[in-house]
Amino acid sequence: MSYSYDDQNIFAKILRGEIPNKTVLETKHALAFEDIAPQAPTHVLVIPKGPYVNYDHFAQQASDEEIVGFTRAIGEVCKLLGVQPSMDGMGYRAIANTGEAGVQEVPHLHVHILSGRILGRMIPRPS
Ligand code: 5GP
Repeated sequence: MSYSYDDQNIFAKILRGEIPNKTVLETKHALAFEDIAPQAPTHVLVIPKGPYVNYDHFAQQASDEEIVGFTRAIGEVCKLLGVQPSMDGMGYRAIANTGEAGVQEVPHLHVHILSGRILGRMIPRPS
């Protein structure tokens, strides 16, 4: 089954300029902006400009240029945020929640970049 993209999702509206955002970086293929409800001192979302629902949709359907552009934008954002361990940053976590199991809220691919505190285990253990 192929994905169908809902162009009324909140990030599509941000890309069209219908909703404001605090931009960290904009490139030909990506936009990075601060999360409205940060879960760490640093919490930035990086999204591709194309209409992709999630990471596997993007990885399978996006052009090579889009994939390179998006991936490079993530690298540039990490550099701008100063979180890269190679530059004495404290490190970060990159997360792309997907679908029901991933508890994805917005159906436009987004990679969360979280840093600024020790983030704990990757996922909570079941109790
Ligand atoms: P998800 O759960 O889909 O991985 O994450 C969606 C993220 O989008 C959440 O962290 C949420 O705080 C963020 N978010 C939702 N609406 C807006 C908005 O209008 N502006 C911004 N900047 N972030 C939003």
